[in-house]
Amino acid sequence: MIRLENITKIYNEKVDDTKALDDVSLKIEDGEFISVMGASGSGKSTLVHLLNRLYDLPDGCGKITIGGVDIRDIDRQYLRSQIGMVLQEPFLYSGSIKENVGITKEISEFDDIREACEIACVDSAIDSFTDGYETIVGERGVTLSGGQKQRVAIARMLVEHTPVMIFDDSLSAVDAQTDAMIREALKKRMAGTTVILIAHRITTLMQADCIMVLEDGAVAEMGSHEQLMEHHGIYRRIYDIQMNTQLDADSV
Ligand code: ADP
Ligand code: MG
Repeated sequence: MIRLENITKIYNEKVDDTKALDDVSLKIEDGEFISVMGASGSGKSTLVHLLNRLYDLPDGCGKITIGGVDIRDIDRQYLRSQIGMVLQEPFLYSGSIKENVGITKEISEFDDIREACEIACVDSAIDSFTDGYETIVGERGVTLSGGQKQRVAIARMLVEHTPVMIFDDSLSAVDAQTDAMIREALKKRMAGTTVILIAHRITTLMQADCIMVLEDGAVAEMGSHEQLMEHHGIYRRIYDIQMNTQLDADSV
C-alpha cells in the first residue's frame, strides 16, 4: 500500500510560499487503479515526482509510506525498479528505437521489447520505418511525432514489469481512438498492478477505482466515476463539456 499523508509541497520557500500541493492525502491499495485529473499547474506532476523521490519532503510537510516504510528510507534505485514512470515530457536517447525501449534493463529480450511496443500501439509505426526497430531516433536520427515519442516511453516502462506504473499525461498527444486502443491493450498488464494515471480526457480516466481531482494543489473531489457524477462538482462539469464537444464532433 502507498500512503500519502497530509502532503504539502512548496518549491522555493525563499521566493514565495505558494503550495504546489496543499494537504493532500491518498491511500492506494496494491493493485488499485487511481487516476488524477486537474488543470495545468494543479500539482499532478509534483505528486507523482514525490513518489520516485525526485524531491523529498522536509519534516512537517507530510509523509509518504510504501508498505509502511517511509519513502525517505527506501533506496532511490530500488524504488525506481518498483515504480515505473512515464514522464510528461518523454525523453529519447540518441540511438535506435530498440535501445530506447530496452535501455532501463541490462538485457532486454527482443520479444519483450516488441511486446511492449505492441501494447503501446507503436509497433506498426516502427515496422513502417525502413530500419524498423534499428531506426535511429534523437538528434541525428528520425524525428518521431509527439504521440510516437509518448508511446515509445510507455513501451520503455512496460519492459520493466514494475508492480507500480505511473502515467503522467502520457496519452495527451495521441488521438482518442489510439488512446482507447492502448488502454484496452494495457488491461492485461494492469491486472494486479498498481496504476496511477494522470489524464485530461474523462474517457481515459473514468474506469479508475478512484479519481482524484486536484485544484490549486488541493484535493477538490475524490471518488469513483459514479460518485463524482452524482456529486455535480468540477468532474461532472468537465464531463458534460467533454461529452458535448464529442457529440458536436460526431455530428459534423
Ligand atoms: P501539473 O502537473 O498539474 O500541471 P505541476 O505539479 O507541474 O502541475 O505544478 C504545480 C505547481 O508547482 C505549478 O504552480 C508549477 O508552476 C509549480 N512547479 C512545478 N515544478 C516546479 C519546479 N521545479 N520549481 C518551481 N515550481 C514548480
Ligand atoms: Mg504535469
